[in-house]
Amino acid sequence: MSDDRNFSAETSAVMPTYGRLDLWFERGEGVWLYDKNGEAYLDCASGIAVNNLGHNHPHLVACLKGQVDKLWHVSNLYRIEGQERLARRLADKTGLDHVFFCNSGAEANEGAVKMARRYHHANGEEGRHTILCAGGAFHGRTLGMLAATDRPAFREGFGPLATGFDHVPFGNLNALRDAMSDKIAAIFIEPVQGEGGANAAPEGYLEGVRAAADEFGALVIADEIQCGMGRTGTLFAYQQSGIEPDIIATAKGLGGGFPMGAVIAKKAIGDAMGPGSHGTTFGGSPLAVAAGNAVLDVMDEAGFFDNLGARITQLDDGLHSLQVQFGQKISEVRGAGFLRGLKMDNAYQAADLNAALRDRHLLAVPAADNVLRLLPPLTISQEEVEKILMILHECLETL
Ligand SMILES: *Cc1c(COP(=O)(O)O)cnc(C)c1O
Repeated sequence: MSDDRNFSAETSAVMPTYGRLDLWFERGEGVWLYDKNGEAYLDCASGIAVNNLGHNHPHLVACLKGQVDKLWHVSNLYRIEGQERLARRLADKTGLDHVFFCNSGAEANEGAVKMARRYHHANGEEGRHTILCAGGAFHGRTLGMLAATDRPAFREGFGPLATGFDHVPFGNLNALRDAMSDKIAAIFIEPVQGEGGANAAPEGYLEGVRAAADEFGALVIADEIQCGMGRTGTLFAYQQSGIEPDIIATAKGLGGGFPMGAVIAKKAIGDAMGPGSHGTTFGGSPLAVAAGNAVLDVMDEAGFFDNLGARITQLDDGLHSLQVQFGQKISEVRGAGFLRGLKMDNAYQAADLNAALRDRHLLAVPAADNVLRLLPPLTISQEEVEKILMILHECLETL
């Protein structure tokens, strides 16, 4: 390693789209990240809900190394064995039928919206194109997804926005029903909002969304990009409700750190997407699907979700007792599973807590609404969860 890392925001050639911290990680092992000085950090960011199996997981490393020696890329002009296998596994685990592979979350959502519109088009409903989104939603940064995302600052200067996206307050079924019409192609929903501040859908909300969609002939698209791939204790977060979406968008944790996304859809929707209707050069490459299959191998191991459930309960109990202890500082414990948020009282800043945690080598992620997000790897141990709670306790005390 060269030592000439006197980069600053001024000298860096990297476009300044992120307010980056001056941390340089070189290596990861499980829930731990190591910087260039060998300093260890407990990673409760997980690359923003990507490294769900931690860093350097032996099975993921072995599967990817095996594939690197065989074949990287061939394009979707040919059959890809690992893609067939991963599609079948995702279809079986959701009860849906067709899978389209892509490279990122925003792309999965774009595909999901295209599929919803195409399905209605195939059924002769040309005018049914509006996508009903939720307040506080985050669906990605492409031009299309900026219109679905409800963060005015993210849109500033990028207009004109795509049309055909409406918003209703998240969690409010009356407002949702009032917005329904024969123009609505789909209701687009994150079962647990991530960037919006770790907001879990209130009890019964997803059931109400499904009922409204059915009544008005619309589809339900679940954006499981952040809350899916085990993060809330089941493979997908909606699986803890009684509903089945028509289309599921997944990405982040799907490749365990290898960039990939997928859209999972019911048969009639997939059938409307014939040859030439959609495409991607890189999506579902042999390398990507080797990573995706390796992630599912680990999650399919006996006891994986039992152990995760125990750790989730441990963190949940710990966060709630911290809230009792520091009630003037934490106004709410939000989210579900390992997509948790501490909503700070107005007199305190989530960013200050985040900085204090970082000084103690615990990495977390800010979210909208003065919320600090905790996104630990799903493979975390009991001792490591205890350590998170201990560091949080110390930092809340001195905040
Ligand atoms: C991260 C995220 C996206 C966008 O994913 P990218 O891979 O960054 O394009 C979309 N929806 C949700 C819920 C996300 O958390």
